[in-house]
Amino acid sequence: MYLRTLTVKGFKSFARATTFQFEPGVTAVVGPNGSGKSNVVDALAWVMGEQGAKTLRGGKMEDVIFAGTSTQGPLSRAHVELTIDNTDGALPIEYTEVQISRTLFRNGGSEYAINGESVRLLDVQELLSDSGLGREMHVIVGQGQLDNVLQATPQDRRGYIEEAAGILKHRRRKEKTLRK
Ligand code: ATP
Ligand code: MG
Repeated sequence: MYLRTLTVKGFKSFARATTFQFEPGVTAVVGPNGSGKSNVVDALAWVMGEQGAKTLRGGKMEDVIFAGTSTQGPLSRAHVELTIDNTDGALPIEYTEVQISRTLFRNGGSEYAINGESVRLLDVQELLSDSGLGREMHVIVGQGQLDNVLQATPQDRRGYIEEAAGILKHRRRKEKTLRK
């Protein structure tokens, strides 16, 4: 499994549709300060279901929508699409290529889709949760995050291990069932 393409449109500094193509192996994103390198990583986390505005370096979720510049007005929606090569079947779905997309509207509306079909956030989370690309996103190690792990409380540390072991999915299901 590897990431093939990431398309961002109206997400943070990317007003126009912009597509990044990846190959298996190591990819480096280079550019001057403030050019949007971290925004690319934020887009990856976001399309995979990240819910924490702080993790995305904003105050509220709406902050991911292009806010405008001196020459261009703000946009009303952010859209990110991720294509994953699933030739090795790492994702539990009968497709060799999997496309996940997420859209957020300024009025608060939100949409997720898997291969063009509208789904719930939970479906995206479950699709990814056995692959190591879990909800808490420990595959994306941001600045300062190593410190957080080292200084974590025993409860948080347990959470990290549960996620890595693929247990969180079942805990979430249990919590959902108990709430009903
Ligand atoms: P550095 O090398 O300093 O880490 P970077 O390449 O990682 O920089 P980013 O943090 O990805 O840069 O991008 C920061 C830029 O994104 C800033 O100019 C900021 O104004 C812009 N930006 C962030 N959110 C939005 C938004 N919602 N609308 C428009 N621009 C945004
Ligand atoms: Mg950065």
